[in-house]
Amino acid sequence: MTERLYYADSFLHEFEARVLAVAGEAGRVAVTLDRSAFYPASGGQVFDTGWLEIMPAASGTPHLRVNEVVEDEKTGEVLHIVDGDTAVFQTGTQVRGVIDAERRRNHMQQHSGQHVLSAAFEKLYGFATVSFHMGDDSCTIDLAADSVSASQLQVAEKLANEAVAEDRSVEVRFATPDEARAMGVRKIPPAEREKLRLIDVADFDLNACGGTHVRSTGQIGAILLRKTEKVKQGVRVEFVCGLRAVSIARRDFETLTEAAALFSTHIWEVPQQIRKWQNEIKAAQKAQHRLLEEVAELQAERMLLSAEQRGPRKLVVQYLADRDLGFIKMLAQKLTKNDGMVALLACGGGQPSLVFAQTAGSACDMGALMKQTVQTLGTRGGGNRDMAQGGAPDGERAERAVRNAASAIG
Ligand SMILES: [Zn+2]
Repeated sequence: MTERLYYADSFLHEFEARVLAVAGEAGRVAVTLDRSAFYPASGGQVFDTGWLEIMPAASGTPHLRVNEVVEDEKTGEVLHIVDGDTAVFQTGTQVRGVIDAERRRNHMQQHSGQHVLSAAFEKLYGFATVSFHMGDDSCTIDLAADSVSASQLQVAEKLANEAVAEDRSVEVRFATPDEARAMGVRKIPPAEREKLRLIDVADFDLNACGGTHVRSTGQIGAILLRKTEKVKQGVRVEFVCGLRAVSIARRDFETLTEAAALFSTHIWEVPQQIRKWQNEIKAAQKAQHRLLEEVAELQAERMLLSAEQRGPRKLVVQYLADRDLGFIKMLAQKLTKNDGMVALLACGGGQPSLVFAQTAGSACDMGALMKQTVQTLGTRGGGNRDMAQGGAPDGERAERAVRNAASAIG
């Protein structure tokens, strides 16, 4: 089985090894080595990337990119997925592995940060970490808790960062499951293993883990908590550590700065400014509604004067190119407050629409008339005997539709 060099040394970025097996097809070839410092995706931590070089190295020596590293579930071997001319690999080939050190450091910062953060939640509130996930942008832990308050989040973040500032040593220990239990390791992995690998954050946390970790907590840099979310197994806490925390904080700051510039204010005043604007918008909308009511009232009065007398009723047929559905509904309500009215209205503003209305309890059936009309238009609509509305494909056809509907009013 592949000897995992990262088990003992997370800072080993280069190593030499021998190819044990090559499998797969062009574009996705899995190379198995006798020893490897590459971390395969497992235990919540994402894999390393890097390069494999054929030995002895000389100019023109094939240099193949390792895009992904996985664990063979059945054999436990570490598989290095490479692309390029993989025919250069044969069983027995000597290679030099080079790990992308920046990516490794990023992952170590996240993973060690997770151990410290999980320990902080456990110490403070007894919230156990049920699972850990490392994503490309942020990481999450799921806590066995019904809820985590904003102040609990802040206190845990503070304790975790104090542990970082204290620069506690982080050591790898190996112990049998019984020894680990005696040492107070809470979560003993269920797999039958002779020796467990333990990550010991001095006087702060001791946990069984196969991941890559920093040498001391100071190397984590910073632990920044972000949002929480209720999930099936508890509460999910999103966080970022180290340089990732710095880059995400920079992005947050730039976003806030842009928002603050739009409001011509300081970034800390942005929420207050938004609230102020929201109130102003609400007030403006109210004022606009009142004005539209007045306009509708006046327009209804004018329309009444020119309403056509048709049998026992007064008929108003009108297309308003610039008005929207809300306005013609308002207009219909005002018109039909008068006795014996039928109003067939259409608008071209917003979504072209139709409104048919009559004075409550009159003899026509607006719902039926609308149904007939929208059927011809190929749109949807409906309503009751006194009031109905429907859609029109465009203003022109909306206008024609009200004229046609008018011929049905006897
Ligand atoms: Zn771990």
